Amino acid sequence: MARSERLFLSPPHLFGKEREYVADVFASNYIAPAGPMLGRFERAVADAVGPGFSACALSSATAAIDLICDGLTIGAGDVVVCPSLTFIASIAPAVRRGARPYFVDADPDSWTLSPDALEEALAALARQGHRAKAVVAVDLYGQCCDYARIAPVCAAHGAILVEDAAEALGATCRDADGVWRPAGSFGAASVFSFNGNKIATASGGGMLVSRDAALVEQARFLSQQAKEPRPYYYHERLGYNYRMSNVSAAIGLGQFETLASKVRRRREIFAQYRAALPELAFLPEPPWSRGSRWLTVALLDDTCQVEAAIAALEAENVEARRVWNPMHLQPVFAAAQHGSCDVAESLFNRGICLPSGDGMEDTDVAFVAETLRRVLFGGA
Ligand SMILES: *Cc1c(COP(=O)(O)O)cnc(C)c1O
Repeated sequence: MARSERLFLSPPHLFGKEREYVADVFASNYIAPAGPMLGRFERAVADAVGPGFSACALSSATAAIDLICDGLTIGAGDVVVCPSLTFIASIAPAVRRGARPYFVDADPDSWTLSPDALEEALAALARQGHRAKAVVAVDLYGQCCDYARIAPVCAAHGAILVEDAAEALGATCRDADGVWRPAGSFGAASVFSFNGNKIATASGGGMLVSRDAALVEQARFLSQQAKEPRPYYYHERLGYNYRMSNVSAAIGLGQFETLASKVRRRREIFAQYRAALPELAFLPEPPWSRGSRWLTVALLDDTCQVEAAIAALEAENVEARRVWNPMHLQPVFAAAQHGSCDVAESLFNRGICLPSGDGMEDTDVAFVAETLRRVLFGGA
């Protein structure tokens, strides 16, 4: 019999001070895209990323990427390199500004941006007389890219490294000096998402973080319609309405304070899936990475099996999803340049994302694993 309560892929899980902080917001009447929770939330995230970082809370990670593009003056004719295996928001803001995307394959050992393929892409561009203006590296499914290798490649080719850490809040990665650093600390500018399905939610929202305080300040200014500090409305530039609400910031701050526990639970859920399904390959974790396991992702034999598994789980009222459909296969990017993306295609064809919310019980994980086992191996 199907579960009566739906098991979602990654639903919000609130068990910290979210309610208390929202009550504080009501008491202060800052029900607006301004107020004290925004500063507290920004400070908490910036401090966690590292000393010297600043942060700006925005309506989404997509808005944060858009403001980074603005800050880096990414525009018509600029080449922006991005892994093919990602969500479209990693690259859409740059393309909307007229940049030309160049898609690069995933590394089979981490599923994140392949340092070798990146090097090849930047060298190929150089042979054509082009320099990539920026590389948007994506920390996929809660795992950082291999920045010890990617950062020097970007530097050698004069490309600015932007880190899309939308999925990777709470992950860490070993840098070129052997130092473990948090996701978000590797880009010249980086973003986190606080959308409802991410590891921590603000009901919707994003955060731009950078060591470049001027870039963050400009993003904050532009996110509020670029109002010059005068006693009347005066605009020297076009801005955006991208600021996060103080109400969302209260929820986000409460969530952020429980992040360590969320990461611990998501990693436990991954370990339980792996123990229950030893026949399957899962998103690998290389020695330089300690991911958040935002989602547990497994590889099946082929697309046919993936679709059968998703249908069988759906019949049990369990949500599962395919892996990101690579960008070089998207009709909207039909004209884009790309290298060979065989790994990304294979991961798309064979990957399945399993329910991974940190509110799941062990019995929920066991139920999903048993259902999968029945479809895949016909056993009990
Ligand atoms: C979720 C996500 C985004 C966009 O985040 P929003 O806050 O929903 O705009 C960007 N990049 C990646 C890789 C994501 O998974």
